[in-house]
Amino acid sequence: MNAPDADFIIIGSGPAGVSAAFPLIAAGRRVLMLDAGDDLGLKEENRSVRVLGSDLESLRVDDGSSPKLQTPVSRGILERFQRDAGISGDGFKPIGSLARGGLSNIWGAQISYLDAGDIDDWPIDLASLQSSYERVAQRIGISTNADLTTGADGEAVLPLGATATHVLRRHKAAKPADGSFRLFAAVNAILSEARPGRAACDLRGDCLYGCPSGAIYNSRQDLLALRKSPHFRLLDNRRAVSLTRDLGWTVKTADGSSFSAPRIILAAGVLGTAALLTDLLPIGQQGLRLLNSPTLAIPLLSPARLLRSTTPTHSLAQLGLSLRYGDGASDYVTGAIYEVGSLPVQSFVNRMPLGRKAGRAAFELIAGSLLVATIYYPGDQSRSSIHRDATAKKRLTVRGGFAEGFEIRAEALKKALRHEWKRLGLIPLPGASLAEPGIDAHFAGTLPMGEAGPFGSSSDGELNLHPGLHVVDGSILPDLSSKYITMTIMANADRIAHRLAAMEAASAS
Ligand SMILES: Cc1cc2nc3c(=O)[nH]c(=O)nc-3n(C[C@H](O)[C@H](O)[C@H](O)COP(=O)(O)OP(=O)(O)OC[C@H]3O[C@@H](n4cnc5c(N)ncnc54)[C@H](O)[C@@H]3O)c2cc1C
Repeated sequence: MNAPDADFIIIGSGPAGVSAAFPLIAAGRRVLMLDAGDDLGLKEENRSVRVLGSDLESLRVDDGSSPKLQTPVSRGILERFQRDAGISGDGFKPIGSLARGGLSNIWGAQISYLDAGDIDDWPIDLASLQSSYERVAQRIGISTNADLTTGADGEAVLPLGATATHVLRRHKAAKPADGSFRLFAAVNAILSEARPGRAACDLRGDCLYGCPSGAIYNSRQDLLALRKSPHFRLLDNRRAVSLTRDLGWTVKTADGSSFSAPRIILAAGVLGTAALLTDLLPIGQQGLRLLNSPTLAIPLLSPARLLRSTTPTHSLAQLGLSLRYGDGASDYVTGAIYEVGSLPVQSFVNRMPLGRKAGRAAFELIAGSLLVATIYYPGDQSRSSIHRDATAKKRLTVRGGFAEGFEIRAEALKKALRHEWKRLGLIPLPGASLAEPGIDAHFAGTLPMGEAGPFGSSSDGELNLHPGLHVVDGSILPDLSSKYITMTIMANADRIAHRLAAMEAASAS
């Protein structure tokens, strides 16, 4: 190894990378962060171009499958990944990012916390994750600090939209008999009070794929704080392309530079991390298992709210929901209900069995009473895997699919939900769709903690067979519940970094 450039090199500045960096620099460790992106791509794209495309192509090619009925074009965030990371999809949309801040530039900011049942098979206890959840929540700011996913009666800090309020009231008035359906105010990583450099949510409702005044969490905000530390250095435009081990680890970047440290922390996102490890993992015929969440989008109409006025609020998820479909600990779906708010009109018009003009007129009439529910299944309902391309050794292909019998379970779920919609006074509209695997961008389970063999990692995310090489992104989560994943990725990265800092302190003394 060359003289070390830092105590730790973190690859990736998304939610996972920054969450690992804070505990390390607080412990006085020197951290060098490399990220493939910079600010340029994002600056060149204004917000509307980012979401809709330069000639509105995201509206025209709307395949109706994205969780929010539309995938943003987001060239600066999504396109480079597909081109440069060397990953393509086969029945799978390989969503990843090579932009500073990663996918947190466009995420929906809905938060979930795992419970003991969710992490039953993990080699860690819930208490250690819980203190990390708290630390991360304090740092990023969320719309409420109460975990509404486990106690359904908390009050939302930011006002709910009028239609969401109406639906929640109806739910509370007539709860489902068996208690298996839960509806609650969504928990979002959005500020209700201003913080230095970030404004509080001003309820303008134009927050689709990012808040211009910083109310929605984006890991770039954390980078500003990290950069104030003399222990932290961020190098942009450094796409890591290979990792080699000598006495420590050396990472080579696409521009020909190399950097060394005793430990490297991979936080490049599940697909980005797999791409980086291509040479180190014996990916054979079967491929590397990848968990992702099958996703359903269901448009809903609330007739009681037709022609009624709307309440100013944010346009992130208004309500969260969950529904059991079996007896197993992970047999439940999680979801969100969005008011249509500032979602692009054309996404809906495209789905109406009417011409464009009539569709628009109809939409204007019903917009205030329209909702979109997005439902996520747990990752065990997916069958996706990452394969090495035989012709170009550095390239990977993700093959997407669903677990056997999934379509039947999806139909059964739609049926179960129909009862709940009726109880809530909602009419499901035509256009419900199952997303192409990958589009959910909830990925996990490629290098699970606690698993033996070349694809497993320790409870500290250290790859078996590769001492000093740690992974902190979703790759190491042993399974994927249907809950929103990013808060857990961040908490787990925080937990691991605390452990690494403590281990180093212990070995130094
Ligand atoms: C449209 C959309 C909506 C979403 N909504 C939600 C939501 O509501 N709730 C939720 O919990 N999750 C949501 N997600 C998922 C969430 O964005 C991801 O879980 C989260 O961003 C993962 O964080 P990460 O740090 O692991 O990876 P990423 O965010 O992908 O960050 C990876 C970082 O690594 C860098 N990188 C990658 N490869 C290299 C390399 N070779 N060299 C150097 N740097 C590299 C990238 O530039 C990037 O900065 C959503 C995702 C999308 C796309």
